[in-house]
Amino acid sequence: MTGPDPHPAPLPESPPLVVVSNRLPFRAQARLSGVILTRSPGGLVAALDPVLNRRGGVWVGWSGVAAEDVQRGGGLPLPTHGLVRYEPVPLSAHDVTMFYAGFANRTLWPLFHYFVSRTRIDDAAWRAYERVNERFARAAAHRRGPDSMVWVHDYQLLRVPHYLRRIAPQCPIAFFLHVPFPAADVFRILPWARPLLRGMLAADLVGFHVPSYAQHFCTCAERLLGCEVNRAAGIVYFEGREVTVESHPIGIDAALMERLAAQHPARAPGERVAEILGVDRLDYTKGIHERLLAVERLLERYSGYRGKVAFTQVLVPSRERVAEYTELKRELDETVGRINGRFSERGWSPIRYLFRSLPPDELAGLYRQSDVALVTPLRDGMNLVAKEYVAAQVDDDGVLILSELAGAADELQEAVSVNPFDVEAVATALHRALSMPVDERRARMSALRERVRGNDVHRWVGRFLEAADRAVARARAAAVPPLEAVRRRLAPWLAERPAVALFLDYDGTLAPLAPKPADAVLSDGMREALEQAARTPNVDVVIVSGRGLADVRAMVGMPNLVYVGNHGFEIEGPGISLRHAGVDGYRAALDAAAADLDTLGVAGGWVERKGATLSYHVRETPDPLRAGALRRAEKILRRRRLRVTRGKLIVEGRPPIDWHKGQAVLHVLVQRHGAGWPAKVRALYVGDDDTDEDAFQSLWGIGRSICVAPRMPEGGTAADFLLPDPEAVLQLVRWIGAGAFAGARV
Ligand code: UDP
Repeated sequence: MTGPDPHPAPLPESPPLVVVSNRLPFRAQARLSGVILTRSPGGLVAALDPVLNRRGGVWVGWSGVAAEDVQRGGGLPLPTHGLVRYEPVPLSAHDVTMFYAGFANRTLWPLFHYFVSRTRIDDAAWRAYERVNERFARAAAHRRGPDSMVWVHDYQLLRVPHYLRRIAPQCPIAFFLHVPFPAADVFRILPWARPLLRGMLAADLVGFHVPSYAQHFCTCAERLLGCEVNRAAGIVYFEGREVTVESHPIGIDAALMERLAAQHPARAPGERVAEILGVDRLDYTKGIHERLLAVERLLERYSGYRGKVAFTQVLVPSRERVAEYTELKRELDETVGRINGRFSERGWSPIRYLFRSLPPDELAGLYRQSDVALVTPLRDGMNLVAKEYVAAQVDDDGVLILSELAGAADELQEAVSVNPFDVEAVATALHRALSMPVDERRARMSALRERVRGNDVHRWVGRFLEAADRAVARARAAAVPPLEAVRRRLAPWLAERPAVALFLDYDGTLAPLAPKPADAVLSDGMREALEQAARTPNVDVVIVSGRGLADVRAMVGMPNLVYVGNHGFEIEGPGISLRHAGVDGYRAALDAAAADLDTLGVAGGWVERKGATLSYHVRETPDPLRAGALRRAEKILRRRRLRVTRGKLIVEGRPPIDWHKGQAVLHVLVQRHGAGWPAKVRALYVGDDDTDEDAFQSLWGIGRSICVAPRMPEGGTAADFLLPDPEAVLQLVRWIGAGAFAGARV
């Protein structure tokens, strides 16, 4: 493999670049002698190479060969000279099946191209996608420099920005999608639509080929995540950050294509067979079947073309691991055979069919020799073949017939535009192209060439990276603290109703956690803020806790609030009183469990009886003993048929009754405001614990909830927002107490 200058110096002005794509820029083949790598020919590789070599950087991706085969072959012979390093992400054969052939190519690929009925919904494939995306993010995080821009590519890696942001919160991240982004009603078919959006929105810049894809993305962010969007400025506000969304249509290496094409002879003038060309990867999105039918229709309708035109279809083998592609190949073989059988004469067949990949030089010759290019994908993110055909028309001749459903149609407006599903219309377009006067051909083609030259892939890379730098600068300048971001989102929503019911968990939310429950006391500031909120007309303050009711009431010490204790089994407050009747049947079990736990004999472990529930604490237990103590306590509680929940260094046992903080919250709302409460009051719940997740879920869609955690909890949360700590909760309570949102009515 030829490499760049072995000792170039990096240019100082731009920090190194980390490119993350599904595949490294090599084609790898596992042979008996080991793994062989050859450079991929694509324009993107050619465009990124010089940039990476100038700035220095790392390319992170999969080699294309399963980890087992790489190991058998003795590793990957990756180049180690120059300023670019390659970081292979190993994928096992199972990962390849589930992540690559599975979620990427059987779920995202068909759905993003509007092939809804081909979209597979498979939870195991999604989990593999998550796992592999996290692995890519780790590899990128590990190899990046202090201020490296990480540029993530395409639909296989939609979750990578999310994982990367989690590992490296300040990392500049740009994402580009090379396929279409579908309309919101199609995208939302995916059960994982929301995490996928969050994945992309963790970037600073999200780039698409054309404006309509960017619009669809913004609509999804708005509708599925409730994000505020400024369409004119191309900004989505997400978790306190400004994410820039832009369209950047990719180009090709036009100069190279011109050079390659110019080495081949021009088309011979005069009487000869007119050449029509199709070049595609074997894929159902490419509309090859419909295209063959259009050629058949042309020959049916205009018999004069028989013996006078030839259609060459180059079909590049692709995704042989995905069953649909084998089936598609069989169908195409049959159709080509049928049409050729129907129309062939001695010395002439209408369709030439090449099932292989051609080297760029041969392809350039074919482009130059063809009178018409028939580029009719049913849906395509961009379509580079259309641009390559145009660039190869160095004589300013030739006609491009282009699907209006390809991204390239946005730019290549002088092409003959067709609806690829409409076989009649494509046959008519073919007739028009074949009989087009030379002046019209030249006028159209020279305009197209200008366009393709003007936005080649080198400019595309340059512009995208500039846009990424701008987006990062904007995101940094506009970074909003989490509290402010939450307030901005809550204010108009709260202002839509005359009253607010504010539910606040106690430990970890209002008061910082302490080794002993008795030490977890409210700060003076928090007490004042709560008092102020409780005095505010139309603000209901409700304290919700896993503690016994009397205990939590004593800790807060404000008699006029509503208190929910014991995870909801007890509720007391002005005009409301509940003791869940089901609890009494479990007194004996609770007593017996407490006695058993007392005999555990773990250093620092102790039982807290809270009436309707009990807790076993290990906060004062030496660290190495904690996990074992919690496991043994859990076992005891289960043996007594109690419901077990883990808290922060405690395990709790409660009656296995279908009642929890969420149901208690709804009970309070109904008691105080009637069954139609959502029309009268805004319910907001703030909590930090696993047991608060029940309340987050109960309020999902009818209220709002905030999870108090410094970062997204491992298992995720059903809450709408995150706040980092009780200090931020204090500010929130003050803000609500001051009624500051009231003016935000929209
Ligand atoms: N191509 C190739 N050899 C071939 C046929 C095609 O290298 O025999 C290349 C072609 O030059 C183009 C790419 O494959 O750059 C196809 O890109 P396009 O955007 O049209 O479709 P995709 O395959 O990305 O869906």
